[in-house]
Amino acid sequence: MRGERQGSGDSKGGWGERAAAVVDGSLPPAPLPRELMLEVFQHARECYPEECCGLLIGPEESATPCRFVRCTNVQSQRRSKGESELDARHAFWIDEQELLHALRTAEEGGEALRVVYHSHIDTPAYLSHTDLQSALGPDGLPLWPGVEHLVISVQEDGVQGGVLFGWDPETESFVGRRVQEAG
Ligand SMILES: [Zn+2]
Repeated sequence: MRGERQGSGDSKGGWGERAAAVVDGSLPPAPLPRELMLEVFQHARECYPEECCGLLIGPEESATPCRFVRCTNVQSQRRSKGESELDARHAFWIDEQELLHALRTAEEGGEALRVVYHSHIDTPAYLSHTDLQSALGPDGLPLWPGVEHLVISVQEDGVQGGVLFGWDPETESFVGRRVQEAG
């Protein structure tokens, strides 16, 4: 699983060109359990200036995630091996063993993957074209139906916020809603 941002900084016309989906301010915010939100934001701060990544897992019968799994971003190792031009400051790649283990554990416990999260360093919480590519299968539909993608914007002075991207089957595109602590 991967998500890579093309280019770096604002040298190629700004982040807008790299965004495949941005937050839709007209939509109501997406509620996320407070504890999970704090954990994910904390993870993003700890990994800065590299992108963090991880999973939110929830019970089969509920769409609301209830626990999180921190994963290792192995993007810099991929770059060392020549598999990508981007390092962990500009892209993420979840360690595949960790991913398999987390998915297996969830399945055994009657749980399901609900959200894949990662952070963006010093740039807004959009879904990049490569984030989008990695979220879709060859048929152009989500690789994991029902799984949402949470992008957290983090800067040196802290987290700027998060946007949760969910698939809209009508428009066949991801729609972004700002995340908010669930009451
Ligand atoms: Zn991204």
